[in-house]
Amino acid sequence: MIIVLNPATTPEQIAELTQEVEQEACTMCPIQGKFILVFGIVGDTGRLDRERLLNKTYVEKILSVQEPYKKANRMFHPENTVISVGGASIGGNRLAVIAGPCSVESEEQIVAIAQSVKASGATLLRGGAFKPRTSPYSFQGMQAEGLELLKIARQETGLPIVSELMSVQMLDLFVDSVDVIQIGARNMQNFDLLKEVGKTNKPILLKRGLSATIEELLMASEYIMAEGNEQVILCERGIRTFETYTRNTLDLSAVLAIKRLSHLPVVVDPSHAAGMWWMVEALSKAAVAVGADGVMIEVHNDPAHAKCDGAQSIKPERFTVLMQSLKELARIEGRVV
Ligand code: PEP
Ligand code: MN
Repeated sequence: MIIVLNPATTPEQIAELTQEVEQEACTMCPIQGKFILVFGIVGDTGRLDRERLLNKTYVEKILSVQEPYKKANRMFHPENTVISVGGASIGGNRLAVIAGPCSVESEEQIVAIAQSVKASGATLLRGGAFKPRTSPYSFQGMQAEGLELLKIARQETGLPIVSELMSVQMLDLFVDSVDVIQIGARNMQNFDLLKEVGKTNKPILLKRGLSATIEELLMASEYIMAEGNEQVILCERGIRTFETYTRNTLDLSAVLAIKRLSHLPVVVDPSHAAGMWWMVEALSKAAVAVGADGVMIEVHNDPAHAKCDGAQSIKPERFTVLMQSLKELARIEGRVV
């Protein structure tokens, strides 16, 4: 941390600041300047109250040298984190392919989709049981019954299941039912929820918020990890921009940035990014090309009648074709599907 002081700062004020900094076991190191007073602060600067320091009239600005996230930071954990879920792993050389409907609609629907995506090579099954819908009048998901149906689909196919948790109240039910707990884009900064899932030992799929920066996403993962759960999978799912043609704008450069900044696995959800089924295949390939650790794809057997997100869902036949291209592309990228 670097603190820049007003040139008119008095020796008494510097002494006051030094005392506060040293109280937190940090040291002030003067940096020689002709017209400005600058100090480098050494030690665990996370202990210092930035706002309190900034409130001092003689403090001009405070600059951070290190990122505010520690556990998610690649600097302190250079090797990639690999997360094992059931028979699948996320973050290693093998790409994770999470596929399934936006929401669970019936036993026949979820089991049929699970069987077909499994046959095409998917490694995990997704399906929403509790749905975060913009309108309270839209289908809210099958709720607890949906989780039961996902468990049946897991039993039929062996695929580990991923489903979104929206409320702390349902946490125990999710811990008992699913293999990966998804935290949706709308809850990325629901800090109470993040802290609670951080106390579980379930892998967490954390989706990037609609207007969250990369640093905010990493800080959200830090909330989970700070509670002891270091099994976090990050998901780029498109962000809101001025563009309205697509549902969101897929930020593929975020994958590159996150892989550089953090050791956590990153997957891409092209379905929610594009909002249109015909873009999903090409965007999935682009995700693999930029080095994502996997993709999350909405697949529905009857998109025209889907209760949620039909327009962005691909049919099982298209998913089979997509898996073929991903296999070929993965080979070129030195990875496997
Ligand atoms: C979903 O995965 O079904 C979902 C609601 O995604 P997001 O939170 O990214 O909108
Ligand atoms: Mn959806």
